[in-house]
Amino acid sequence: MRAIRRFTVRPVLPEPLAPLGDLAMNLRWSWHPPTQDLFAAVDPRLWASTGHDPMRLLSEVATDRLAELGSDETFLSDLRSVAADLDAYVHQDRWYQSLGSDVPRQIAYFSPEFGLTAVLPQYSGGLGILAGDHLKAASDLGAPLIGVGLLYRHGYFKQSLSGDGWQQERYPIVDPQAMPLSLLREADGTAARVFVGLPGGRRLAAQVWVAHVGRVPLLLLDSGIEDNEPAERDVTDRLYGGGTEHRLLQEMLLGVGGVRALRAYCRITGATAPEVFHTNEGHAGFLGLERIREYVEDRGLDFDAALEVTRAGTVFTTHTPVPAGIDRFARDLVEQHFGGDNEAVGVPVDRILALGAEDYEGGDPGLFNMAVMGFRLGQRANGVSALHGVVSRGMFAGLWPGFDETEVPITSITNGVHTGTWVAREMAELVSRPEVDATARDGAEDWAGVDQVPESAIWKTKAAMRARLVDYARTRLRDSWLARGASEAELGWVDSALDPDVLTIGFARRVPSYKRLTLMLSDRERLKRMLLDPERPIQLVIAGKSHPADDGGKRLIQEIVWFADDPEVRHRIVFLPDYDMGLAHPLVTGCDVWLNNPLRPYEACGTSGMKAALNGGLNVSIRDGWWDEWYDGQNGWAIPSADGVNDPDRRDDLEAHALYDLLEHQVAARFYDRDEHGLPRRWLEMVRHTLKSLGPKVLATRMFDDYVTKLYGPAALSSRAMNSSFEGARQLAAWKRRVREGWGGVHVDHVESVGTGEGAEVGGSAQLRVFVSLGGLSPDDVDIQVLHGRVDEADRLQSPSVVSLERAEDYEAGRYRYEGQVRFDRTGPVGYTVRILPMHPDLSSPAELGLVAWPPEASPMVNGNLR
Ligand SMILES: *Cc1c(COP(=O)(O)O)cnc(C)c1O
Repeated sequence: MRAIRRFTVRPVLPEPLAPLGDLAMNLRWSWHPPTQDLFAAVDPRLWASTGHDPMRLLSEVATDRLAELGSDETFLSDLRSVAADLDAYVHQDRWYQSLGSDVPRQIAYFSPEFGLTAVLPQYSGGLGILAGDHLKAASDLGAPLIGVGLLYRHGYFKQSLSGDGWQQERYPIVDPQAMPLSLLREADGTAARVFVGLPGGRRLAAQVWVAHVGRVPLLLLDSGIEDNEPAERDVTDRLYGGGTEHRLLQEMLLGVGGVRALRAYCRITGATAPEVFHTNEGHAGFLGLERIREYVEDRGLDFDAALEVTRAGTVFTTHTPVPAGIDRFARDLVEQHFGGDNEAVGVPVDRILALGAEDYEGGDPGLFNMAVMGFRLGQRANGVSALHGVVSRGMFAGLWPGFDETEVPITSITNGVHTGTWVAREMAELVSRPEVDATARDGAEDWAGVDQVPESAIWKTKAAMRARLVDYARTRLRDSWLARGASEAELGWVDSALDPDVLTIGFARRVPSYKRLTLMLSDRERLKRMLLDPERPIQLVIAGKSHPADDGGKRLIQEIVWFADDPEVRHRIVFLPDYDMGLAHPLVTGCDVWLNNPLRPYEACGTSGMKAALNGGLNVSIRDGWWDEWYDGQNGWAIPSADGVNDPDRRDDLEAHALYDLLEHQVAARFYDRDEHGLPRRWLEMVRHTLKSLGPKVLATRMFDDYVTKLYGPAALSSRAMNSSFEGARQLAAWKRRVREGWGGVHVDHVESVGTGEGAEVGGSAQLRVFVSLGGLSPDDVDIQVLHGRVDEADRLQSPSVVSLERAEDYEAGRYRYEGQVRFDRTGPVGYTVRILPMHPDLSSPAELGLVAWPPEASPMVNGNLR
């Protein structure tokens, strides 16, 4: 029989053990080994069987055992010391407190998914893991940050395989009562409620769960409550499930409801209101609309001024260079949900539609684009690796027409990973960095210690990590085969599947086509030979989920599974179902090589390889994402990519063969090249170099520091300036309106130069006179610039220097002469051009308005197209 309602009874711990409950409710346990040791000591068997889940451990542990622990002095003393450590961690000053006052007093971080631990399955892949690592790094650094997301009642699916290798999906219920979550309550004890208006007079209600990620609270909105009609109750049912309207409702709840949840949280707890709002990927973008509404309704600003204040304090991060990965809605659907009887006073729906309009060449007028809105609602924006920055500037250049791609105001900050979460304990202990001062950000000096570690110790540690992976993989493999219908009697071979001494290659990720799961199968015979090589075999551990609606991805998984099912190779290649953080940890820590072969440049960053590197793994990867930036020739290998080859099959073929050659002739050769003590010296040199050189770079704390320096700090200052009296915002909005309206009258009329021509010599200079019309604008509104430098064969300037010209004469109403000098500081073909840009101290980039005037004879230098 089935229960009609379910609920979870939380355990009551005997008094002296009460702090265990507090430790379980703060996710810091997930990256703090002493806290994990303490939970393990409660009941080691149960700790293992619950998959290291403190909440389940405490609810399932026998009462007798609790009574026993309550009088176990050793345990109680450990408990007191771990609890004191958490208390200090949460309250002491850390790095952020040393930064002075030009950084945000509070940051709000909105994301559609958060990957914090395997026991809180609210993520599908890299985006969520990154968001989780961002919160943890913020906590470690003492940054005041509040996360905002949704609580999906079925999380993302759990994956298993059918007998013939087809992905099966299950959606186990996520019971918030059994999770490290507490309900946000008003002072009178009732659950706080957040409402979002819907068309037709309906409204969506949500309650708010709070997770504690060290010092950082994470608010998760949950629509699964009885106040809602059944349809609305299901809004937060699944991550990335349902149709487009369902997704729109989720995003309205995340953005609009998220800001309201944040306000409720700050009101109830007294937390400081955020100065900076970070929109992590377009899905969360509606938060900007809600903030505009607040300024209009509560503070009396008009839409344009409200937009300027909102923009000033908003940072937008774009995460995908795959056009299909950009979140778009039918324009009508957005109109229906934000217009009509649901239109907010002072926030006209046509202004909203304009924010997400693809009103550039190649855009689709019927669509509302969340990334485009993200750029228009955020004064500062970034991609997630240097290469992704370049690709994003090209992809979105249509929003800033007339500007060279290099000037498109999208910067980049390369992702990082959280050490506490991803570095194996023995590796952390081995590198044993000097006890760092809590107020210092971990840096290069912390990794210098690896020079003192003997090679034999590194090798022994890696061998132990590899052996643990092999053990773990066998267990998972057996479970998978049982689920596929095999009987125990047939599974004797599983005990010797994989070999703890063989070169182990990890390959795990989501399975969209650009990640090319099956590239390694291009030449099956060759792969087989490499797996079975008697002298220098390799073995592969593979994992990954396909989106439930993506049958193409499921076919790729099936191909791998069929290959791995072959009795001839099944001891050397395994597919482990249900890739999640719990499987990622043994995998990234245990493998010798991390393999990544995406179709360049579609991997925005990639972070798994960073996790492997921190554990002494070497990367073998296409030069895409972070690897394009930090591959240095000694920290791993780059798979040559056939970028120019248009035929996709031929390109795959070329890259697959390059991969086989690398693995066989370089990677395996080096791994098995042993000295008289059995050590692969040259391999270990690369491992040491990887730890030392990549160690300091691939950290989430480094990433967080970059965000503070490049984006959060400047956004806080802009936000303060705009919020101080709103006069600045009104003036900026009025100025933009005037400049946009008057720009048609702005022209470069004529350019004269003295000193160029045949005789130009290096060290010489030319005197420029530039005649401009500004129409109704004043010289204070503009910057007249000369750009000069090397030119290519098509006369395009290459990375030109920019000099502002001086106003020399007002020779007629609205017409001016400007002057300046260009110095020839290099030989060879050089050139210059001039341009007029809007200028205002509150702009974050001269391209912000997307306005520029060039001389009539100069076409814009390079123009990117939006794909
Ligand atoms: C790190 C991680 C990812 C990210 O994968 P990339 O392909 O490197 O972006 C995805 N899923 C899990 C479970 C991870 O731990």
